[in-house]
Amino acid sequence: MAIKKIAIGGISTECSSYSPQYQKESDFVSIQGQALLDLVDFPFTDFEIEAHPVFFNRSVPGGPIEVRYFEQVKSRFITKLKALGHLDGLLLLMHGAMYVEGIDDPEGKWIELARKVVGKDCIISLSFDLHGQLTEKIVGNIDAFAAFRTAPHIDINRTYHRAAQMLSDMLSGGQRMNVVWHPIPVLVSGEMSSTLAEPCRSIYAQLDEFDKSDGVVDCNLLVGYVWADTARATAAAVVTCTNKESGNKVCSHIAMLYWQSRHQLTFDMESGDIGSAIARLPQEFSIIADSGDNPTAGGVGDRADVLEAILSHRIESTLFAAITSEKAYRKLKKSREFIIGNGLGGGGPVLKLSADSVYFKNQCAIVNLQNITLVVSKYRRSFHQLSDFSELQINLDDYRLLVVKSGYLAPELQSLSAPSFMVLSDGAVNQDLRALTNNHRNRPSYPFQDFDEFTPKTSFD
Ligand SMILES: [Zn+2]
Repeated sequence: MAIKKIAIGGISTECSSYSPQYQKESDFVSIQGQALLDLVDFPFTDFEIEAHPVFFNRSVPGGPIEVRYFEQVKSRFITKLKALGHLDGLLLLMHGAMYVEGIDDPEGKWIELARKVVGKDCIISLSFDLHGQLTEKIVGNIDAFAAFRTAPHIDINRTYHRAAQMLSDMLSGGQRMNVVWHPIPVLVSGEMSSTLAEPCRSIYAQLDEFDKSDGVVDCNLLVGYVWADTARATAAAVVTCTNKESGNKVCSHIAMLYWQSRHQLTFDMESGDIGSAIARLPQEFSIIADSGDNPTAGGVGDRADVLEAILSHRIESTLFAAITSEKAYRKLKKSREFIIGNGLGGGGPVLKLSADSVYFKNQCAIVNLQNITLVVSKYRRSFHQLSDFSELQINLDDYRLLVVKSGYLAPELQSLSAPSFMVLSDGAVNQDLRALTNNHRNRPSYPFQDFDEFTPKTSFD
């Protein structure tokens, strides 16, 4: 069998259309060469496949992507793809929740151009985040599709493997596959659709079983991304299949399972305003998630609303990680007096504070003031791993309360088994969905409108 040649690459981010912070080139990390092959970590050579890395650009989720950067990075990808010459396959790694002003379907545009370059005989397999949006244009240009089945995401590499496996199977003489999908008029936040909690835990657990149906290869449920006011924002059932009729049947079934569970979609942790969080604060170590400003969902990460409440209630032994402000970080290098809050235009209060002591580590200022520790980060980032704290020489045992900018807690923070509370704070990823501006989403769409009629129908055959 002749060696088959494939390319690997793509772009991944999540963009809140409610964030004032535009994403540009410097916000993205580009994974290239061997590092990209290592990321996918699939034994292509066992299938006599030669894999050529293009690039995979990803960022901490944020606001809309600058149009100029989007056009540049897309052309760069297409140029590199062309330079590879004839390709038998293409493995695309995308997220599915890019937002670029004036472009309805950025991933669709990217994939459509890629298809034009590689031609109709090339097999395209697409890996996606379950918080991504599918469209007719995307489905019409791919042969196989696999999305994460866990949120919080702990199966990213497994998903790359599913997409790579389908691609390799087709290139090794297997039947060419199809992708069928059913949009579902439901759109909630990731925090309301965690796969660790019902109803999603049970629905996602069934996908492995559905994969075994005759003529069906890979079953998916996309929750979608709620903080972008776009027409394509919706949940969807997606099935890669060798038999479209069977694929459609399973796809409708998944769509109905999600639709019928919509009223059970809710937060998987205690939640409410900051006042109720403080009123319920236990004596033992606990965690508060400041959810409206969570940078890993697209929040700005610069808001000081929750910090203001912690300080005014004098909640001592609190570790607050973190608030982004390059200006405050620089100011602290020279002075104990600094200003924090709304440093990037994310809104909320602006606080004038005075540090008792400060030290610097990993582009962060670790500030002690009023018996709490505040981490001021030069750049937007998350504090979801235990190493994020130890790298700053912070010992969690020294604190009674940890405040992080997060929605549902990341697996390492959950592993602490501490009582936790999600504050439904204001920000670019506000969990009060009905309060979001809603000019472009399809109507009706639950929970923006409440309605009872839904019949899943395929829009692709
Ligand atoms: Zn996601």
